[in-house]
Amino acid sequence: MAFHSGEDSNDDYLFKIVLLGDSGVGKSNLLARFARNEFYSNSKSTIGVEFQTQKLEVNGREIKAQIWDTAGQERFRAVTSAYYRGAVGALVVYDVSRRQTFDSVGRWLNELHTHCDMNVITILVGNKSDLKDAREVSTTDGKSLAESRSLFFIETSALDSSNVNAAFQTIVKEIYNILSKKVI
Ligand code: GDP
Ligand code: MG
Repeated sequence: MAFHSGEDSNDDYLFKIVLLGDSGVGKSNLLARFARNEFYSNSKSTIGVEFQTQKLEVNGREIKAQIWDTAGQERFRAVTSAYYRGAVGALVVYDVSRRQTFDSVGRWLNELHTHCDMNVITILVGNKSDLKDAREVSTTDGKSLAESRSLFFIETSALDSSNVNAAFQTIVKEIYNILSKKVI
């Protein structure tokens, strides 16, 4: 993570953000949708990409978000400590149509907090909101878990693009707000 106060050039804002959550919840597709406006109906999106750097604007400043994808490591419950190193933000993703992925959120938060500062800024993301008939996790359940763990919360669909930009924009904005308060 690089962060500088003052009147430095905009290039100085670089935030490492990690995607976490069970296999199949849509992490790679959220990143593909956000970074390239693409969607994959199979799990091809998981292969190869380690991270993508994306420019965003917060309060008129350009910020680079370096967004890391697990690239399938989570299938073997073997997300390495290098993955977490230096992260200032996390998106913990579950699939609203698979209750089990919601039940895993606590485990992902514990893992995050063993590797990163407790203050790592985290948004809980209920993905696949397009699957209305198959829903197993209500919005209310998502919200109350987020509240009880002091997380931001949003529901997204990488398939129909709903709230995908908002999810990344929110986390970057919150990181910016908190870090800029700290250094001033
Ligand atoms: P990852 O293992 O968490 O990286 O999940 P992937 O991004 O590979 O997605 C797993 C599967 O879910 C793929 O078949 C995707 O096409 C599908 N998927 C991902 N996001 C969505 C979504 O928002 N809605 C629907 N209906 N399917 C999705
Ligand atoms: Mg993946």
